[in-house]
Amino acid sequence: LGKIEIEDFGLRYETANGPVDAVSGVSLTVEPGEFVSIIGPSGCGKSTMLNALAGFLKPTSGAVLVDGRPVEGPGADRGMIFQQYSLFPWMTVVQNVEFGLKMKGLHRSERRRQARTLLGLAGLSQFENHYPDGLSGGMKQRVGIVRALATGPRILLLDEPFGALDAQTRLIMQQILTNMWQRLKISVLFVTHDIDEAVFLSDRVYVMTARPGAIKAEVAVPLPRP
Ligand code: ADP
Ligand code: ADP
Repeated sequence: LGKIEIEDFGLRYETANGPVDAVSGVSLTVEPGEFVSIIGPSGCGKSTMLNALAGFLKPTSGAVLVDGRPVEGPGADRGMIFQQYSLFPWMTVVQNVEFGLKMKGLHRSERRRQARTLLGLAGLSQFENHYPDGLSGGMKQRVGIVRALATGPRILLLDEPFGALDAQTRLIMQQILTNMWQRLKISVLFVTHDIDEAVFLSDRVYVMTARPGAIKAEVAVPLPRP
């Protein structure tokens, strides 16, 4: 599983300057195992929608469903990646990944084994015992993806994950993400400003308009994957 359904979604922030309608009337679907991107101008509500899917924000109107059930908060069935990596600096790479596995109640040696397998898939085996501070931005983001996948989510939500990386690192990261997606058969919802990246990576692309941000178009991407 790993199906996402967003139906007539709206979210209003209450601020000191009054209410801000960040998003309204957005509907979209991601089928289990699908790789779907959302593009749209800054401020159209992409992050707000991902945060509602992650369970960090509650919709003001409409429904946000995962596998047919309303999202009620964060859960191990959904992993989230932000533009700014958020690794624990006092833990090594492998410890960061194992942290995600602790919630599954696995034995210590089994945690280490699973963490190493995932790090291998992301080409990070040599960096297991490094601390995040010594790694490049791309490497940190790779570890972040591995850590988010460690709990075994069916869905990966990514918010401009490669926006801060240089072009070459970005390309490598795209390949790693594609590889993980194919191997783990997860559903991916990927937010980017970069239309080429969206087309290159996705089964389908949703185009959001400027705030209040209803979905304007849905594009099926017929190109072969890298
Ligand atoms: P995007 O990810 O597409 O750039 P956001 O979801 O970040 O869009 O923002 C959508 C709108 O909601 C913008 O107008 C933004 O200024 C506003 N917004 C985002 N977060 C908050 C917040 N915490 N409080 C008030 N307004 C917000
Ligand atoms: P992006 O465009 O990449 O989604 P932003 O730079 O718009 O990110 O927003 C970064 C952070 O600031 C987010 O956590 C968002 O919720 C918050 N934010 C954005 N706009 C506002 C706003 N008008 N008031 C308060 N917080 C905001």
